Amino acid sequence: MPQKKLDTYAAKRDFDTTPEPAGKGPRRRTKQPRFVVQQHHATRLHWDLRLEHDRALASWAIPNGIPPDPKENRLAVRTEDHPLEYLDFHGEIPKGQYGAGTMTIWDQGTFEVHKWEDRKIEVTFHGERLQGRYGLFPIGRDGEPKDDWMIHRMDPPEDPDRVPMPERVLPMLARSSQKLPPDQKRW
Ligand code: MN
Repeated sequence: MPQKKLDTYAAKRDFDTTPEPAGKGPRRRTKQPRFVVQQHHATRLHWDLRLEHDRALASWAIPNGIPPDPKENRLAVRTEDHPLEYLDFHGEIPKGQYGAGTMTIWDQGTFEVHKWEDRKIEVTFHGERLQGRYGLFPIGRDGEPKDDWMIHRMDPPEDPDRVPMPERVLPMLARSSQKLPPDQKRW
């Protein structure tokens, strides 16, 4: 158990109160790493992308959801690593708890890793809704704190005339590329 990796996660939560996993249970291993995208109605609606890596979930909060086509980069704020059990988590995080609000699973599946470096991650998602090759990279220069990342789609969508994903019609999402305050409590 990479308990050190999850120290920040644990420090922010009271596991007697929140239904979120403490991250101490058994784990199963699959050949392909797994991912989840959770829709999180916290202080501010966002989507949490979590990628299985090094026996924990590398996590990003994406205010405007996963970009469906390669035309736009979207902000993805790096958040603390989560335990693998979080792949299946959905439910109500109680008021007063870190990340209070409703969390639902937007998609889950497996992914292929093409590149996993400090400043560049490239993966192909095999989910129900999320398919395709994506890149993630930090905005700041090397050596700077890198909480602010961008996510972008690298391959063209399979069907350019497809029905837009539901996230696209949510009114909150009209505000793109807005600089967000560095308020970790929102995620
Ligand atoms: Mn969140």
